Formats: sequence, structure tokens, C-alpha cells
Amino acid sequence: MPPKIGFPMTLTYFMHFPLWKIFFTELGFEFVTSQPTNKLILNNGIKEAVTDACIPIKLFHGHVMALKSKVDYIFIPRMVNIDKEKHITFCPKFLGLPDMIRASISNLPPILEISLDKKNKGKLFLYKACRLLGRQLGKPFNKVLKAYLKAVKFQKKFENFLVSKKITPIEAFDYLFKDKNRVNNTKYNRKQTDREINKATSLENNLNIAVVGYPYQIYDSYISADIINFLKKNNVRVWTMEMVPYSILKRYSNRLSKKLFWHFSNKVVWASYHYIDQPYIDGLIHVSAFGCGPDAMVGKLVELECKYRNFPFLNITVDEHTGDAGIKTRIEAFIDMLRYRRTA
Ligand code: SF4
Repeated sequence: MPPKIGFPMTLTYFMHFPLWKIFFTELGFEFVTSQPTNKLILNNGIKEAVTDACIPIKLFHGHVMALKSKVDYIFIPRMVNIDKEKHITFCPKFLGLPDMIRASISNLPPILEISLDKKNKGKLFLYKACRLLGRQLGKPFNKVLKAYLKAVKFQKKFENFLVSKKITPIEAFDYLFKDKNRVNNTKYNRKQTDREINKATSLENNLNIAVVGYPYQIYDSYISADIINFLKKNNVRVWTMEMVPYSILKRYSNRLSKKLFWHFSNKVVWASYHYIDQPYIDGLIHVSAFGCGPDAMVGKLVELECKYRNFPFLNITVDEHTGDAGIKTRIEAFIDMLRYRRTA
């Protein structure tokens, strides 16, 4: 039996799962994730994390608890900077995540920790991080190099897939990992992207709503009250920030006189500006996390832009006490208002 490496199904899972899955599998490990968030994971997270942590960080603790007795290692990357701009980092909670977990949870298996830090390690930061992981795990250089190249290629395919097919990371994981033949031909293709948009927006009575927020917030169906599927069941086409090519997002970076300090916050603001500009989008929902410092600013920036442009906007803030019913009622009212607005 190959040794097991556990990866919590939250935070960077929604953006980097394909990369790490391929890398560690190619190195000969079994790469396993925790289960999707459930009540037990949430309760364990609340119990183990410091009380003033935001809900995603509490959840991360719960996912580590779910893995700790089942794996030989737990993989916790320290996310520092992956942007071209050196001042843009991940929020301080990401920066200190491995330390926070070590300090809060006892009897853990060894933590595999690397820093993804383009600012200090240069363009080859990911390669350097993978080499370090290979060394920690006692793997030969050529095997690590091969695994790294294959993983990076697959990650690129995954990212292109989101953009050209206009699907969520969860749908892409399903598509890419359950049927390997479908992995071919996933290059980003402008014409294909336009076709997808035309197809999605031509359906009559189909509302188009952009749902923006941190991926670990909106794609975690338990903590987000399954907003995305709820909208789909109500005949709404959902658009998220991962579906927008980075080159387009970047065009919106100049709207603010200064970029924000945090990686995800910038992407949420730029994606919101992009969707507000699209004639086929009927409204925008911002999902924010209770206890998130950066979100206090992000939410306000998005709300102000919507007000200024007279664009329908709904903010949903979720925490560990938020009930599904309240969120769903507000979303239903928002959908009704958008449908009425179309016919008025
Ligand atoms: S950005 Fe906000 S929600 Fe995300 S980890 Fe930091 S404080 Fe928590």
C-alpha cells in the first residue's frame, strides 16, 4: 500500500487540487482528501480553532481533524504570493496556516509544508517548492521533475477548462478525473468560449447571475447553503470568477487607483466589475465570510459599484450559525425581483 498524503477539502483545494493530485500520485503516493464539509467537520473546526477565526479557517481545522488518523502525512501549503505584483499576498491566515494547525491540533501526522512564494523565490517558485517536497519525501530528482511537469500541464488544462467550458471547479473535477478521455482538447479557445456564452444566454427565461466570492466559500456546498445548485434548480445560469480568463480580469485591475493587498480579494473585485459590464448578466450575488477582514472592504467596493451602476446586488454573509432557509428565502426574493425587472 502506498503511503497516504491527506489534503483538506477546503481553501486551496478548489484551485490547486489537480496540480497536487497529479504531482503526489506520480511520486507514488496515494493522494486523498477529506470528505465534503458536514456537520461533524464544522463542529470539530469550531472546537479546535481560535474563536475569532473566520469560518473558512475554522472549517480547515475540521478537515484536518477528519484526516489526521487516516493518513501518513498532511499536506498544508503556505500560500504567500503567486501574483506578478510583489505586494499582493494571500491573507495573513493563509500565511500562518501550517503554524496555526500545529499550535491548535495535537497528535498530527507529519505536516508536509512548502511556501508558494513568487515574491522571494522568483518565477520558478513552484518548481522549487516541488523539489523541496520531493526531498522531504526522499524521491529522486528525475522522478520529481517528471511529476512536476506532468502536474503543471494538467493544472493548466484544468484552468483552461473552467474558462472555455464555463463550468465550476467541482464540475471540472468530475469531468477531468472521472473520464480521462475527456481531458484531451482542453486548450483555452476563444471561439469555444463565445459559443458557450451564446448557448447559455440564449435560453429563454434563463436568468444569468454572477456569484462572486472566495472559491472555498462559494463552492463548499455545506457552508454556502448550496447556493450554486439552488440557483441552478431555479433555472438560473450561474457565472463565477473562475470562468473569466485572467487576462480579462486584469483589465479591470486599473478601475481602482490601487490594487488590494490580497490575492483572492482582487480577483473578486475584478470579476465583479467584469460581470457588471456584461449585458447578459442580470444580477450579482456576493458571498462573504463572517469574520473575514478583507471581505469587509471587498463587499463594500462591489456594493458601491453596483449602486453606482444601478445594478442588482445581493450580499450573503455566512457563518457557522447561518441557516439554509434564511439564505434561500433571500435568494428566491432576489430571483423574483430580477424576473420582474426583465418584464417591467
Ligand atoms: S480572506 Fe477572509 S475568509 Fe479567507 S482566510 Fe482570510 S480572513 Fe478568512
